[in-house]
Amino acid sequence: MANNIQAIRGMHDVLPDQTPRWQFVEQQVRDVLATYGYAEIRLPIVEKTELFKRSIGEVTDIVEKEMYTFDDRNGDSLTLRPEGTAGCLRACLEHGLLHNQVHRLWYYGQMFRHERPQKGRYRQFIQLGVETYGMAGSDIDAELILLSYRLWQRLGILGKVELQLNSLGTIEERIVYREKLVEYFNQQPELLDEDSKRRLLSNPLRILDTKNPAMQALVENAPTLMSYLGAESKAHFKGLTDTLDALGIIYTINQRLVRGLDYYSKTVFEWVTSELGAQGTICAGGRYDGLIEQLGGKPNHAVGFAMGMERILALLETREDLDTIQSIDAYMILVGSAAEKSGLLLAEKLRDCLPNLRLQMNCGAGSFKSQFKKADKSGADYALILGDDEIANNEISIKFLRKDVEQRTVTLAELIELIKN
Ligand code: ATP
Ligand code: MG
Repeated sequence: MANNIQAIRGMHDVLPDQTPRWQFVEQQVRDVLATYGYAEIRLPIVEKTELFKRSIGEVTDIVEKEMYTFDDRNGDSLTLRPEGTAGCLRACLEHGLLHNQVHRLWYYGQMFRHERPQKGRYRQFIQLGVETYGMAGSDIDAELILLSYRLWQRLGILGKVELQLNSLGTIEERIVYREKLVEYFNQQPELLDEDSKRRLLSNPLRILDTKNPAMQALVENAPTLMSYLGAESKAHFKGLTDTLDALGIIYTINQRLVRGLDYYSKTVFEWVTSELGAQGTICAGGRYDGLIEQLGGKPNHAVGFAMGMERILALLETREDLDTIQSIDAYMILVGSAAEKSGLLLAEKLRDCLPNLRLQMNCGAGSFKSQFKKADKSGADYALILGDDEIANNEISIKFLRKDVEQRTVTLAELIELIKN
């Protein structure tokens, strides 16, 4: 016998018993975004490889080792998007959306990274991305944090997450800091692991992000970027923390929060949880004004974040109430050939008159007993029964499956009234 083909490692199916949970979260996401006036943008899943190299940066984990890159039939190098920020900005530049305009956008969809699969880390995963353009002040940075905070509230996971903030300052401030940092690490090169030795040359700030326990003391004692920030960067950060303080939103300042990507400036933030092991970041973002010019646009402003949906779903695992979402109202049982013939027609009439009715037909005949079993298993509130007697009298029977009410036989008009009420 041939082996069955299986899904690709790290790429998961979401089976029907899990989709109600996803739909619940997706609905909350849409609702919250709407209350802040954000508009949806839909983007291709595949982009030119060049886009990611230029935006994410050649010396990042993503570009160095995580991208799904291939040549298409024309020999063009294409990549399955590992994130959405670059594609969103590419689209907005391409369609001229950034000329003297302000935008608040979101997208939702699959991202692809060739990582080692484990809980909370997959090769195909879903992100909600939120990107804003054209706003320089810290008020929009705050708004993005408030929006995510409101979402945690609605999902009931506020108690499981913690906000971490940092400021990366401007490029100029980082250049000065970078020198100090390299100097510091060079004083004790024997404490650096192989990855960090490489990063010391290419991207020393990322050493601060190391997950290697042996290097924790070294990075904890490193000079901090905060002390190299200029007046404007400091004021921007204070603007943000003042707003959060005024609203009573608790945060910690994590001076080692540098984010993996090169394009950030000033505000960076992460929402983290201690409930998902090493995959603790559920939402991460910040300001990336510089990326716009990097992709050929005029100087402008951009702030955004991305949320890892699988990790959020994992935090909701204990919410058993989300599993009981009922999917249908009525199940139609057809007994005898006359009923089998007119059943579909009757069901269509019901759907015409009751547009919200969720009605499932018994297809494929069967005895009354077996159909009744299916009706019960379907989760429907009531069964609609069509047999020879009902057909002869132009009637239909309704049997309540979840409450103690006697079965009734009524006309179609009566049935419609009954269901409406
Ligand atoms: P991590 O440190 O966990 O690798 P990252 O810095 O690579 O995260 P981002 O590029 O900032 O992640 O993506 C934003 C969010 O998307 C992450 O905070 C996380 O919730 C989610 N995410 C990233 N990579 C994966 C993945 N491979 N599988 C599932 N979710 C992911
Ligand atoms: Mg990563």
